[in-house]
Amino acid sequence: MNNQVPTVKLLINGEFVESKTSDWRDVTNPATQEVLAKVPFATGDELEAAVSAASEAFKTWRKTPIGVRSRIFLKYQQLIRDNMKELAAILTAEQGKTLPDAEGDVFRGLEVVEHAAGIGTLQMGEFANNVANDVDTYTLRQPLGVCAGITPFNFPAMIPLWMFPMAIATGNTFVLKPSERDPMVTMRLVELAVEAGVPKGVLNVVHGGPDMVNGICDHPDIKAVSFVGSTPVGTHVYNRASQAGKRVQCMMGAKNHAVVLPDANKEQTLNALVGSCFGAAGQRCMAVSAVVLVGEARNWLPELARRAEKLNVNAGTEEGTDIGPLITPQALERVERLVQAGIDEGAELVLDGRSPNVRGYEKGNFIGPTLFSGVRPDMTIYKEEIFGPVLCVLEAETLDEAIDVVNANPNGNGTAIFTRSGAAAHRYQEKIDVGQVGINVPIPVPVPLFSFTGSRGSKLGDLGPYGKQVVDFYTQTKTVTSRWFDEDEKVGSVNTTINL
Ligand code: NAD
Repeated sequence: MNNQVPTVKLLINGEFVESKTSDWRDVTNPATQEVLAKVPFATGDELEAAVSAASEAFKTWRKTPIGVRSRIFLKYQQLIRDNMKELAAILTAEQGKTLPDAEGDVFRGLEVVEHAAGIGTLQMGEFANNVANDVDTYTLRQPLGVCAGITPFNFPAMIPLWMFPMAIATGNTFVLKPSERDPMVTMRLVELAVEAGVPKGVLNVVHGGPDMVNGICDHPDIKAVSFVGSTPVGTHVYNRASQAGKRVQCMMGAKNHAVVLPDANKEQTLNALVGSCFGAAGQRCMAVSAVVLVGEARNWLPELARRAEKLNVNAGTEEGTDIGPLITPQALERVERLVQAGIDEGAELVLDGRSPNVRGYEKGNFIGPTLFSGVRPDMTIYKEEIFGPVLCVLEAETLDEAIDVVNANPNGNGTAIFTRSGAAAHRYQEKIDVGQVGINVPIPVPVPLFSFTGSRGSKLGDLGPYGKQVVDFYTQTKTVTSRWFDEDEKVGSVNTTINL
């Protein structure tokens, strides 16, 4: 190992330990290619040790009173707030997004931690008094055991925080497998969780790639798996982990459409489209990557392109940056290849962001705002999730035609309609087959009072992350029917019917 570059540690049974693996990968700064750290692809034995620590810790953690669990998350949310700037700086260095956007990434996770602190009321069961003579029925919502989480690179703070706080708050223990591309901010958040009082063995972290993920899917002592990432990998995780008898929730890829009606507020709509398509260099699962301009709104295309062109491409640490680098040189090559496919297949390249001049960051994985018009659903740029700052513009005569376009796409993660018409918005909300719907809101990620969701190809499993649904996901219901006899009550006769 090169001694100058720090290594990312595993967390096993409360100790941050060096992996014994010989397989290490670089964590690089996408704006400079500087190697920030080495991340291990940990061994099967290390996964075994993490699961075993989590199984052991579950024996006591499951009995820990609600108030004790809750207070850990009260402290944790404060520690995250206190360390916000440092967390954002680590995140920007390894992921590339701008510093304000990195703070947003941490903040959206922090909201889930705040929600976890209210676990008492969230995990309450139901009670019905006197369902038959002197009989009461009630439910207990008990933790499952060891749960695991597998997370993507694009929100290395928010998405781990979607998972382990709610899993642990509900009484489970956890094994987290962060993205190998940007694990450092995740590890800092994990350190803060330990500082907040998460006991040893309750939260464990292993690093790695496909082998580690497969090991998690197969492990007989892991009861549930939460996955967020691309559709092919999520589908594999869902199938493999369900085959092994686990509960699985997989939140996956997207092609999010905005439908723009001509009565929309033009100024607000165009700003919203530009921000949501090109922000975070298009590497958000909720980024708008396709716009359907309806009727007269088709005339807004030149103005949309003019606004996109003004965006500032630079390192995420630089003041005034709108678009940072893509995560890896491979991701950049892939996006550039897709842009070329768009040209080859006949879409009109209105704005070409390839090879921008970013002074001082010549080695960065940059591509500027890129906009295609005349896009048809059979084109590669429309069929694939590009995951870069590339917007595909389509056209429709009517709202219904636009709805048909959106519903014919295999993905159903997020969508937005821009209009001043309540009736049109209502029609859209009812007819669209997409999980998150925004009405004049471009990136409608629900706050944790609700749960994240998804339709069709964007989600596998019934229950979404955070909010109420995840309490169901991380608990099993036990229904108790009870009757207590008074000492002096007369003993009845044998009853062979089904009545209570
Ligand atoms: P990814 O699928 O490549 O990786 C996700 C996780 O799976 C990582 O931890 C990775 O190590 C692991 N992995 C990668 N290849 C694997 C393989 N062959 N077998 C087993 N495990 C493997 O995703 P990514 O590139 O890190 O993230 C971007 C994707 O995530 C996009 O498709 C985006 O839309 C999606 N995403 C979805 C949501 C959502 O809520 N729907 C949120 C964020 C990101």
